[in-house]
Order: sequence, then C-alpha cells, then structure tokens
Amino acid sequence: MPTLTIIGGGLAGTEAAWQAAQHGLQVKLYEMRPTNPADANPTGAHLSGDLAELVCSNSLGSNLPDRASGVLKAELRTLGSMLLECAEASALPAGAALAVDRESFAHMATERIAAHPNIEVIRAEMKAIPDSPVIVASGPLTSESLSQSIASLSGEEHLFFFDAIAPIVHAESINMDVAFRASRYDKGDQDEGDYINCPFTKEEYYAFVDALQTAERIELRSFEDAIKAGVKAGQFFEGCLPVEVIAERGIDSLAFGPMRPVGLRDPRTGRRPYAVVQLRQDNLAGSLYNLVGFQTNLKFPEQRRVLRMIPGLEHAEFERYGQMHRNTFIASPKLLRPTLQHITRDDLFFAGQITGVEGYMGNIATGLLAGLNAARLLTGQPLLSLPNETMLGALCHYVTHASLKDFQPMKANFGILPPLELENKKIGKRERGQLYAARAASALNNFLTPLVE
Ligand SMILES: Cc1cc2nc3c(=O)[nH]c(=O)nc-3n(C[C@H](O)[C@H](O)[C@H](O)COP(=O)(O)OP(=O)(O)OC[C@H]3O[C@@H](n4cnc5c(N)ncnc54)[C@H](O)[C@@H]3O)c2cc1C
Repeated sequence: MPTLTIIGGGLAGTEAAWQAAQHGLQVKLYEMRPTNPADANPTGAHLSGDLAELVCSNSLGSNLPDRASGVLKAELRTLGSMLLECAEASALPAGAALAVDRESFAHMATERIAAHPNIEVIRAEMKAIPDSPVIVASGPLTSESLSQSIASLSGEEHLFFFDAIAPIVHAESINMDVAFRASRYDKGDQDEGDYINCPFTKEEYYAFVDALQTAERIELRSFEDAIKAGVKAGQFFEGCLPVEVIAERGIDSLAFGPMRPVGLRDPRTGRRPYAVVQLRQDNLAGSLYNLVGFQTNLKFPEQRRVLRMIPGLEHAEFERYGQMHRNTFIASPKLLRPTLQHITRDDLFFAGQITGVEGYMGNIATGLLAGLNAARLLTGQPLLSLPNETMLGALCHYVTHASLKDFQPMKANFGILPPLELENKKIGKRERGQLYAARAASALNNFLTPLVE
C-alpha cells in the first residue's frame, strides 16, 4: 500500500488523512502538539491535544443551502467529509448556523482517526518537507523550522507570516449619492474611474479620526508579540500598519497617508475633499469592494460602528472585517495548481489555511481535496480539479489564480464564483444565493457522475 505523510493534525490534515486512508493509502499523520496539552503548547493558540481542534469560534458558519458556507457544506456532504459528519453529530442549537460542542467534535475526530487501520498518528514536529509524497497542512501557526523548509523550497518572498486584512463591503450597500467613481488625476469623465471614493469634509474627517483613536481594539495574543514589537520598533512596513495606529500618530496623519485626497475632485462640489477613503473592486463580479489601506485591529462591532461614519458607507454591509494576526500562508497563485499540488513537485500537496483559504469549512474542504488527490496520484488515477461553479472549485481557483500583489486569504463567498447569466434581470440576494447553490450542486453532480460510473 503506498504511503503518504501528512504534516499537521488540524482541520485540513485530519480530513486529508481520513480521505487518503479511505482511498487506499497508508497514512503517517504528524502532529506536533502532545496528547497532553500541559506538556507543551507549541502553537500558542490550541488548548488541547486533540486533532481537529477549533482554535476560536465554535461555529462552522451558516447551514442555509442558499448561503456560501451552506453551499460548501452541501458539497462536503456529497464528497463524504468525515469532519462534517463529526460536526453534525456534535451540533448545538444555533439557529441557521452549524455550531458544535468543540470538545465532542474534536474527541470524535481524534477517535475516528486513531481507530482507522491505515492511519498512524505520530506526535512529533516535522521540521522539513520530506522527499516522499506529502501533504503540508500545518496551518496558520506552522512551526518555525517547517516554515524555513517551505521558504527554502519556494523562496522567502513566497511565504507570508501576517495577515493585515482590510475590510470588504458589498457594492450594493455603498451610497453612490455620496461616493463617486474616479481614479486619481482622472481627466474628463470621472464616472469611468476604477475606484469608488468616499469624500470627507474637515469636520467629518476629524470626527472619524477621533472615533478611530478611541475605538476598542482586539487584544493581541501572546503569539502576536512580534506584531506589537514590529509596530513599536517601526519595523512594520507602512503598507501594513493598522489605520488606528496611523491615526495615533497625529490628527492629520491619515489625511497624508491612506486617506490623502490628491488628484481627486468631488463631482458634487467640484472641489478636492479634505480626505477620502478609496474602495477597490475585490472580485470579478464587482459585487465586493475593499477599503484600500484600511487594515485594522479594531473589534468587529467597533469596525461596523466606526467605518459606517465614512461618508457613503452609512449602511455598508461587511463581507469581511479587517484583521491582524499571525498567519503563515504561501503565495499559492505562484506555487500551487488547482489540484493543490506544488508547481514543481507532483507529490507535494498543500491544504488548509496555509494555502490562503480561510475559514474552518474551507480548510476542511481543501484537506478533503488534497487527501483525495494524493490517493489518486499514488494509485495511478487522474487528479480532480473541481468546476469553478462549485464553491470548493472556486476557492481552489481563487487561491491559485488571484493577483499575487494583493493576495490575501479568502473564505467561501459568492463573489468568487463565475457571475450568473441573468441577462440584466434584477433579482434579490436570496434568489441569487439560490441560483448559485443550484448551479453549484448540478456542476458537482455532472463532474462526479462519470467518475462513479
Ligand atoms: C487565533 C486564530 C483564530 C481563528 N479563528 C477562526 C474562527 O473563529 N473561525 C474560522 O473559521 N477560522 C478561524 N481561524 C482560521 C482557520 O480557520 C483556523 O486556523 C483553522 O484551524 C485552520 O485549519 P488548518 O487545518 O489549516 O490549521 P490548524 O487547524 O491550525 O492545524 C494545523 C496543525 O498543524 C500542527 N503543526 C504545525 N506545524 C507542524 C509541524 N512542523 N509538524 C507537525 N505538526 C505541525 C499544528 O499543531 C496544528 O495542529 C483562526 C485562526 C487563528 C490563528
């Protein structure tokens, strides 16, 4: 029986191990956390010795069939995800969301892996990528030695260590009676600009900066000391500095930084605004926009409150809030294929957060695909690359094709799917979700049918 090594017994690695073992491989699953967490806490975030521990929230997102996360769950059910079974067996009442009893969930997963005859769990750190078939699923808190090994394989510049994520809003929630389209130094018709600009008067700007300076921030965890130290020492390169930290430097520092208004004229007043927040298109469909240079570490409700003070964003709906945390991930657009194989080595796969896929379900899903594909590779079958109309296919497509310059982790959302063909018909959010879901289900079905025949 061919042997596969998996590095990391988190969400992606555990699912990958199960799939590979079920499809005929002998799996060696390396997990550096000891069974007794009192012995050591190598990631600084995990609290137990269990496999598949949920490090923070106990929610795996919406279960509604017409939500992005619900679509991904439906696909994982079809594909036979072991962790989704554990989640459903340990579910707690949580309305439309799939929330779990985190201990039952992780115990169940750990027991099922331990009982599998084809899986050996080895409690040790894997310090380097082996030359034999392997899936790297070591997560956002990958150990230092392994990070170095990944960097030496792919180049230092292709490994990132921090997330400094700017918030993303839904285009339809931007008030275009206030905001205007223009690129800096546009000549002529400003409506053709690439950016959406939210213009501030001096009074609005000062009130906004005051709110930013005093808003509640997320406490940085111990393992994020490096971020703190970097910010204090001024090592954090300017492009990654949280806006609230820039705001602390002086009342006008943002107006001379990410909110500078140069080259822009508000078509309603004909004058240059005192400051602007620029929004840049974030997905092909044009349904999502990110706030340029607005990475922040404010608490999520505070982001909602303070960022809604931006003229034009009074009713903004947030697809994702800004965040800063340690997050090891590779430059997947440069390094990975949609099958999750490394570009230079067929038998080297990556799965989970380290690929730039974000969120518990996305991490489980990429683990599942990597496990299946490793098994197919080692048993001489063609590898699977799921259709882009499916949520899992779209996630793999996104991380392997996104622009490298702005590459940031991405979770399941409708914005990464190919647009629906609606022939200018206007439909509501709910109906749109239903259409995406139906299309994803039929694409997966059509893709899988010939494989099982
Ligand atoms: C602090 C924090 C909070 C988060 N909160 C949420 C949340 O609330 N909701 C959400 O959807 N997502 C959250 N995420 C993002 C992400 O979904 C989770 O981190 C998820 O657990 C990632 O799954 P994974 O399998 O890629 O990594 P993990 O689940 O972290 O698994 C990786 C495993 O690899 C092990 N490992 C690392 N290096 C080695 C090595 N060299 N040798 C052997 N083992 C190794 C680690 O001990 C770990 O068990 C959070 C991330 C962080 C860092």
